[in-house]
Amino acid sequence: MDSRTGEAGILARLLEGILSGRIRIVDLTVTLDQRTPTIVLPPELGQTWPFRIEEISRYDRRGPATYWNNFSCGEHTGTHFDAPVHWISGRDLPDNTTDTIPPVKFVAAAAVIDCSRDALADPDYLLTVDRVEAWEEIHGRIPPRSWLLMRTDWSLRTDPEAFLNMGDEGANTPGPHPDLIPWLISKRDVIGFGSEAVGTDAGQAPHFPIPFPCHHHMHGNNRFGLPGLCNLDQLPPHGTLLITAPLKIRQGSGSPLRALALVEEQADD
Ligand code: MN
Repeated sequence: MDSRTGEAGILARLLEGILSGRIRIVDLTVTLDQRTPTIVLPPELGQTWPFRIEEISRYDRRGPATYWNNFSCGEHTGTHFDAPVHWISGRDLPDNTTDTIPPVKFVAAAAVIDCSRDALADPDYLLTVDRVEAWEEIHGRIPPRSWLLMRTDWSLRTDPEAFLNMGDEGANTPGPHPDLIPWLISKRDVIGFGSEAVGTDAGQAPHFPIPFPCHHHMHGNNRFGLPGLCNLDQLPPHGTLLITAPLKIRQGSGSPLRALALVEEQADD
């Protein structure tokens, strides 16, 4: 309640919307367990740890009143946040680590483009500028400081091998066309790019003229990545509010997170 006007404040109205169900909260996060797929790099490079969990006690002699676990994983495991320092292009930028990014950047709008049919037809599907412009003709322009989320339904591949989809030339997974990312930054001022695959870049991105263009350009411009998302089919093209706070790891390059989307239900009348 605003003490001057007697009206409910913005936060009170938001809470009322959530509690009444008029604002739905969609969990965009995959469950972490030992089967969670992690990116596979050429063998000469360092590798990320898989997710591991070990019981400390479960109401037994190790802790009669207590259930808890230890776990370990790489920063880039499951649904996770990519900070600018993750890429060499973002190495020297200010506030580029999980502990220094201003928290206001963890709350942002999201536009969701449905590429599920394209990815079903071609696992190496690349989202182009033309395709985004055609989408904007129907749904309207991507607002500044929004995420662009690429829905592919890739998260429906619950078998880790099918999810990683490794071939002779590396992974075959969908992602952004190399030209799309500079355009999204310069023409649409997006805050970041999100996807359902193991990384924000396409599986074939190591072979692009600039390898891993989403990482190179997004992080080089102090923007973020949000790979490993799910449930994007539950989001409208516009009007989603995303909450994406990574763990506050000192000098962290990213972290698993609980990605939450707030969506307004259509009034049924
Ligand atoms: Mn990552």
